[in-house]
Amino acid sequence: MPKTKHIVIIGAGPGGLCAGMLLSKRGFKVSIFEKNSDVGGRNRPINQDGFVFDTGPTFLLMKYILDEMFQLCDKRSEDYLEFFKLDPMYRLLFSDRAVDVYSDRDKMRAELQQAFPEGSAGFDAYLKQEGARFKKLYPCIQRDYSSWKAFFSWDLIRAVPHLALNHSVFSNLGRYFKEEKMRLVFSFQSKYLGMSPWECPALFTMLSYLDHEYGIYHVKGGLNKIADAMAKVITEQGGTIHTNSPVESLIIDNKVVKGVRLADGSEVLADEVVVNADFAHAMTHLVKPDELKQHSPEKLKKLEYSCSTFMLYLGVNKRYDIAHHNIVFAEDYNTNVANIFRNKILSKDFSFYVQNASVTDDSLAPAGESTLYVLVPMPNNQSDIDWDSTCAAMREQVLDAMESRLGLTDIREHIVCEKIITPKTWATEENVFMGATFSLSHKFSQLLYWRPHNKFQELDRCYLVGGGTHPGSGLPTIYESARISTDLICQKYGVAG
Ligand SMILES: Cc1cc2nc3c(=O)[nH]c(=O)nc-3n(C[C@H](O)[C@H](O)[C@H](O)COP(=O)(O)OP(=O)(O)OC[C@H]3O[C@@H](n4cnc5c(N)ncnc54)[C@H](O)[C@@H]3O)c2cc1C
Repeated sequence: MPKTKHIVIIGAGPGGLCAGMLLSKRGFKVSIFEKNSDVGGRNRPINQDGFVFDTGPTFLLMKYILDEMFQLCDKRSEDYLEFFKLDPMYRLLFSDRAVDVYSDRDKMRAELQQAFPEGSAGFDAYLKQEGARFKKLYPCIQRDYSSWKAFFSWDLIRAVPHLALNHSVFSNLGRYFKEEKMRLVFSFQSKYLGMSPWECPALFTMLSYLDHEYGIYHVKGGLNKIADAMAKVITEQGGTIHTNSPVESLIIDNKVVKGVRLADGSEVLADEVVVNADFAHAMTHLVKPDELKQHSPEKLKKLEYSCSTFMLYLGVNKRYDIAHHNIVFAEDYNTNVANIFRNKILSKDFSFYVQNASVTDDSLAPAGESTLYVLVPMPNNQSDIDWDSTCAAMREQVLDAMESRLGLTDIREHIVCEKIITPKTWATEENVFMGATFSLSHKFSQLLYWRPHNKFQELDRCYLVGGGTHPGSGLPTIYESARISTDLICQKYGVAG
């Protein structure tokens, strides 16, 4: 197709970059406007004093979906990125035991055998049943739900029993495992969606199945390199990425989006606009308050959002002998989860995650030194927590927990650089509504047709990509959102997908 149709994309996060890659390959003229100086959004690097941190994603799941996006552009991801398959994938630390989680089946059975009285009984049934669920549900996740018609497809009708609508991830796991901690080994992944395993719909039990089936990958230089690679493909295919170019508003005429107005006052006209900026942030900042009915600022405030996170990125002049991915469970996990999601208050006893990627990848820090990425799930900004006055004390509590729970007793002496992101700064600096780092909650009433549609239902010539639209947050599903939205644009113009 000649480059006569101009697509403007707001934001160079994973969703915007993937959409840009697919659209520029299919012959559209693509212009991406990104407010930051780097591409990647929450998937961009933090470069400080010779240390490189990923801002957000550190687990690459379902690598094959990423590969497919490159293949759709007649490229190979391996030509742009160096992947490391992790095995063990991660270490789980409870107050009374540690469990290394392997994608190798025999090693995993042996680990469960030594860590739990009920042993590996249930593991094979879990893999079989959740594998079957995944195979039925995934094709349904890949389709567009912009209209009710999507519900009248045979694959979705056949998949309905697999939705286990009356179950949460945690209760569904009761089919295979009795002990609570055993179930936590296979349910903490609901945190990937910023949800509690007691509330996360049972269909997401397949997340831990995906770890076991397809493995978890690290990318040399950090997962941020995926964003760089996608940006490279876009420019190779003739697309343009404008960094340091915040969009101030959508140009809307009678509910039809005509282009974007940039912060410098200039206007860029487009045939279609793809919004990758966080959905609720975009709809409260880039359109006038009275423009939208279903997604007015008042209605957006009433939706349910994922949790937030307190982030500590530490450059340390030492190598620590801890795993690449370490998930530390609060001693009273249930109370911590209730405090994050229901009570929206801080917990003294909290779960946290530490990535020590330098054990796999020595490109992230100066020789002999390392990067530590610490993520602590927190209530989102629907809480009353004043992060300006809480931040310093929280930092100390996190360092104390790293000492006591991970044995990094000398951590304070070895910090040479650091950066903190709080739930407040996710909102103010990263344009994330309510500081909800994993976007809108993935409760059932906010999924599929009930999530903001890929072809945005309230404005014509406007499409959504990223965690705030269908299928949801997480890199593979974000790439799927780009595939769905770009297919819709291609269909409109009769371009082969
Ligand atoms: C701490 C954290 C850990 C995570 N861990 C994982 C993980 O391990 N694995 C995984 O698969 N997923 C993970 N995720 C979830 C998800 O993959 C990422 O959040 C992902 O970056 C979201 O992509 P996105 O395209 O939806 O949006 P973003 O990454 O937020 O991109 C949106 C872009 O829009 C830009 N923008 C916003 N407003 C404007 C404007 N007005 N004008 C121009 N540009 C604008 C932003 O600057 C940004 O670049 C994690 C997320 C976080 C925050």
